[in-house]
Amino acid sequence: MTTPLICNNYINGEWEGAASAATLESRNPANKHEVVATFPRSTATDVDAAVSAARQAYRSWRLVPAPARAEYVFRVGELLSKYKEELAQLISREMGKPLVEARGDVQEGIDCAFYSAGEGRRLFGQTVPSEMPNKFAMTVRMPIGVCALITPWNFPIAIPCWKAMPALVCGNTVILKPAEDTSACATKLIEIFAEAGLPPGVVNLVHGVGEEVGKALVEHPNVDLVSFTGSSETGAEVGATCGRTHKRVCLEMGGKNAQIVMEDADLQLALDGAVWGAFGTAGQRCTATSRLILHRDVKEKFTTMLKERASKIRLGAGSDPNTEVGPIINERQLQRVNKYLDIAREEGATVLIGGEIAREGELQHGYFFEPTILDNVTPQMRVAREEIFGPVVALIEISNFEEAINILNDSNYGLSSSIYTRDINRAFAAMRDIEAGITYINGPTIGAEVHLPFGGVKHTGNGHREAGTTALDIFTEWKTVYVDF
Ligand code: NAD
Repeated sequence: MTTPLICNNYINGEWEGAASAATLESRNPANKHEVVATFPRSTATDVDAAVSAARQAYRSWRLVPAPARAEYVFRVGELLSKYKEELAQLISREMGKPLVEARGDVQEGIDCAFYSAGEGRRLFGQTVPSEMPNKFAMTVRMPIGVCALITPWNFPIAIPCWKAMPALVCGNTVILKPAEDTSACATKLIEIFAEAGLPPGVVNLVHGVGEEVGKALVEHPNVDLVSFTGSSETGAEVGATCGRTHKRVCLEMGGKNAQIVMEDADLQLALDGAVWGAFGTAGQRCTATSRLILHRDVKEKFTTMLKERASKIRLGAGSDPNTEVGPIINERQLQRVNKYLDIAREEGATVLIGGEIAREGELQHGYFFEPTILDNVTPQMRVAREEIFGPVVALIEISNFEEAINILNDSNYGLSSSIYTRDINRAFAAMRDIEAGITYINGPTIGAEVHLPFGGVKHTGNGHREAGTTALDIFTEWKTVYVDF
């Protein structure tokens, strides 16, 4: 077992402990006896210090030309590439996802850095004709100020990068408050920003409990913007506080994503999509497939194929190259998934495979849940409506295209969605009628590349889109300028 990493806050260019001596620890979810890192249980005093540093740094950072700000971000991308393997190993150990997925997590951060750096030379405004003589009208993008970035544990490198890279290029300063479970990953990431030579106070890190440190950041009068990714419950609270305290807020929250399989689908392709969508990252993705909406003509055949494939999935530690599906992040989340199985049984669903906490051999030391398929699920059941965030997929039978779309849309959430069909008319109708931020035709419910808008509708988001040029709309404010001559 390796020695735990000692993580600190990073405020005004200095690594330091918190005002209080209290510490917390993160553990390897594949082996709960292994402490991965200890980190400070920061308080509102530490938040104050980070906000003051970020506010002070903002005065000069906003005046650094955007292409020069972008050079720092480019350098962060180069360093992320250099430390990619080390970071991936750490993600696997602290968060549990298989190494191949962990590498993808870091790669997203790298792609985001290089893409955002390019925006430094493209922070375009517009020139607009004026109806008055001798006036020149234009629009310019202005930074917002101090941005609080509050992030979950499931993409511990990619999500902070999605937020920090465009925020910095746009001229803002940032304070990262990472999820408690992945504090070591956040620390390594901020070490990279420090190595890239960003001026003190431009990037800050404050560890701690969400209800303490996250809340203090959201309420702080000198924070101008909150970019939050996490559960819908917390997001609603964050959004309400931001409304009350007049902050810009970008919320990326939960999902209850569905894949439709029509009777004309390529079933093998649909199977590959369903297995990856439902069980990849142990179902702990905001874009995970948690409902499979199956046409009655292919349901039996498809279910047999799915059962066969899912029952062979190899559970294990993320660091083991044979592992296909890793652990659940912590005990609380494991119990939450287990509770949903009780609910499913009470509601009358049938457990086709899985349905239990996995306890054989080495698995007993971690938080593993068996890949689970629930049959005879109706759209009104809680397991068809609420986000479970585990390797659990519910099968719902439909008899035509309209019914499939209605059931898919009958959800409070709207993040990723998918339909497998060979019918071009249905494909375009689905693209038009599905209520979601992302729709795949003949692909699984996943996210999008870093240059495309990412986000959802309904309770999944509050209208913003991260990534791509849409990220610039989060991290800048438009100013209209007239010049009289
Ligand atoms: P969570 O809401 O528990 O925590 C997210 C972050 O918020 C953490 O850093 C936490 O410390 C902080 N936090 C908790 N309470 C807070 C408060 N009162 N004020 C301010 N901050 C607070 O979510 P989680 O369990 O870390 O992540 C899982 C959830 O994230 C799932 O619902 C998943 O769907 C969602 N998610 C969404 C996206 C997306 O882009 N839509 C991406 C990944 C994860």
